[in-house]
Amino acid sequence: MSLAPGTGPVQITQEQLQARIVELAAKIRDDYRGREPHLICVLNGAFMFHADLVRALGVPCTIDFLQASSYGDAKQSSGEVRLVKDLQFPLSDRHVILVEDIVDTGITMNYLLHYLEGRGPASLKVAALLSKPSRRKVEVPVEYLGFTIPDAFVYGYGLDRSQYDRNLPFITSQD
Ligand code: IMP
Repeated sequence: MSLAPGTGPVQITQEQLQARIVELAAKIRDDYRGREPHLICVLNGAFMFHADLVRALGVPCTIDFLQASSYGDAKQSSGEVRLVKDLQFPLSDRHVILVEDIVDTGITMNYLLHYLEGRGPASLKVAALLSKPSRRKVEVPVEYLGFTIPDAFVYGYGLDRSQYDRNLPFITSQD
């Protein structure tokens, strides 16, 4: 796990993102030797991370998508999680890696892990690009973590600011 540099605003460049994703992909490749991972993207925020991660993996894998909602357009979690879009494929015999953009309070991840466990995967791990541990209300296991960041609202590279700025190729907390 590496840290976002500096104590000022969070700034993770395109190069830093891609370099870290290559490292995470190498670790996953190693850990899943002899097993095909099934990478589930948590929409919308993880769509870029998921795409770059599966591309960097470079080994056979399958993918699926789901969407949970807890935030709407607000910057604070409502604490209630709803499944907005369900999986397409069954999970029995699948080695699932849940791919999330950011773990903040952990409430969304906790909900999703329970939901997926209930669908009987062969194994279940988490890949998250970002984590804000100082905000955690529920502890969740993150096997593959990109960057630990301080308590700041970040956007870009899939993460939104009132639905905009997801298409920035970097992550920032600056206005
Ligand atoms: P949690 O349930 O509090 O862990 O929130 C997880 C979800 O909140 C993430 O999947 C994001 O969609 C959203 N979120 C949390 N922090 C941020 C942020 O700094 N920027 C953008 N979205 C965030």
